[in-house]
Amino acid sequence: MEGSLARESALKEVLPENTTKTLVPQVEVERVTRPAPPRYRNEIAKYIIRRSNDCTLCGKCAEVCPHGVHVLKPGYKLFSAPHLNVCAGPSCQRTDHYCIDLCPNKALQMVENPMLKAMGDYRWTPEMLMATWRMAETGEPPSPEYGCDYETGASEGGFDRLRFKFPEKPPVELRDDEIDTSIVLNRRDDGRPQVKIDVPWYGGGMSFGSVSNVVQLSKARAAVAFNTFTCTGEGGYMERMKPYDDHIITQIATGLFGVCEETIQRVRIVEFKYAQGAKPGLGGHLLADKVTPAVAKMRETVLGISLFSPFPFHSVYSIEDHQKHIDWIKHINRRALISTKVSTPNDVDMVAVGSYSAGTHIVHLDGGYGGTGAAPDIAKKNIAMPIEYGIVKVHRFLTDEGIRDKVTLIVSGGLRTPHDIAKAIALGADGVVVGTSELVALGCIRCSRCESGRGCPRGIATTDPELAGDVDLEWGTQRIINLYSAWRKELVDILKRFGMRSVSELRGRTDLLMHLDYTNDVETK
Ligand code: SF4
Ligand code: SF4
Repeated sequence: MEGSLARESALKEVLPENTTKTLVPQVEVERVTRPAPPRYRNEIAKYIIRRSNDCTLCGKCAEVCPHGVHVLKPGYKLFSAPHLNVCAGPSCQRTDHYCIDLCPNKALQMVENPMLKAMGDYRWTPEMLMATWRMAETGEPPSPEYGCDYETGASEGGFDRLRFKFPEKPPVELRDDEIDTSIVLNRRDDGRPQVKIDVPWYGGGMSFGSVSNVVQLSKARAAVAFNTFTCTGEGGYMERMKPYDDHIITQIATGLFGVCEETIQRVRIVEFKYAQGAKPGLGGHLLADKVTPAVAKMRETVLGISLFSPFPFHSVYSIEDHQKHIDWIKHINRRALISTKVSTPNDVDMVAVGSYSAGTHIVHLDGGYGGTGAAPDIAKKNIAMPIEYGIVKVHRFLTDEGIRDKVTLIVSGGLRTPHDIAKAIALGADGVVVGTSELVALGCIRCSRCESGRGCPRGIATTDPELAGDVDLEWGTQRIINLYSAWRKELVDILKRFGMRSVSELRGRTDLLMHLDYTNDVETK
């Protein structure tokens, strides 16, 4: 109670009167990992165990398997469908509990799941999808015995060609609790709050329209648990999200859908979205089928009519115009930090410096490897500079201009794993924005049907209430909390291997990276 009074009086100092009248109590979410098993009965697994008619139901396999793959329920005559997603696969052969060998009738056979050949793509390999599901289920990095090679994809470019050069042993031995993964988002020293987040990432902008309100809320609640942020994307701000205001970034994009003073005044970060890395120069689209009554109401548009956010802002053609926008927001929310999201054109370094001069706190570079199934491949693959070049270019230019420590550089666009996050930071970013990984944690299979008809068949990228109801809010929150927990552990492990006490020591350490195209260095694992 005392804390909330203190917070209210502190906010009165910086908020206009009309905002303080609408403050809502903020909700706490515990940062605790708990098992969050898959929503579907038969989760897709790397290996399949086939049971032949030679099985006499002796129960030996259920007895020996420590992972609980084989389930023979008491009173049942037949085995239930096996929990294949927790099977350790052929690596189990090295143990004394390999069911395939121990079955007295040799009734079990293990094969690789043929579905893997059809699942995923070169950026999100089946193994990466399964590893992400597993982290979201358990809150732990996948154990090496599962043999999931998920640290890089198979794209032959971008982060997939970068590797860390780890020393044979760390220069100093550190404990996990000695390592600081937090970063500061306001470096301008302009009287606005410093805002520190506990992990060097936050959730990317996904609008109510592109994803369901359950997905948005799950992301927001996980952001509270990790003292970080999630972004509403363009398209407004649901009433139901207000208890999480302190961890929400609201976006102002070119369509100005759902933008209103009242919601801008609530949040601690407001983001101007000038472009998306996955479709620079194309603006945003929300197809008619996804403009449901709830979406149309929040965006103040017409039911069932496609929505288009043009490129660019037609009120911004210079840095001075951009500054005018920033001043507008700073005036109506005196505590908010400003983020400016841009793609990576060739002169992105000049854009970053200009944006800093206009008064932004966060320069958010969005590269082209990300995007949901809504982003056309032709745009993802052919427009703008690859993000790994963009980060280095901007980091170096800001350093040369003497302003690197006055602005926070956040990057996004296809960052899928803690290894990608660490690589982006080593290239020069302070932190990153993640998007697709959170959807994968919720069960996305990368089928690219996000924009077809009613949207995602798995209830994620949809606004159809019936489909959206497939995702339970508590479950969704827990899956993202678990994913973040596993990621943080892996990031801490990377920092420990370099003997670094904080993630900010990794920033700009390109000397610790090698690019497989340009090096004869030997990869260290
Ligand atoms: S191979 Fe090992 S982990 Fe898989 S079901 Fe058999 S005993 Fe369990
Ligand atoms: S599972 Fe849903 S969110 Fe994932 S790609 Fe398919 S339609 Fe999109």
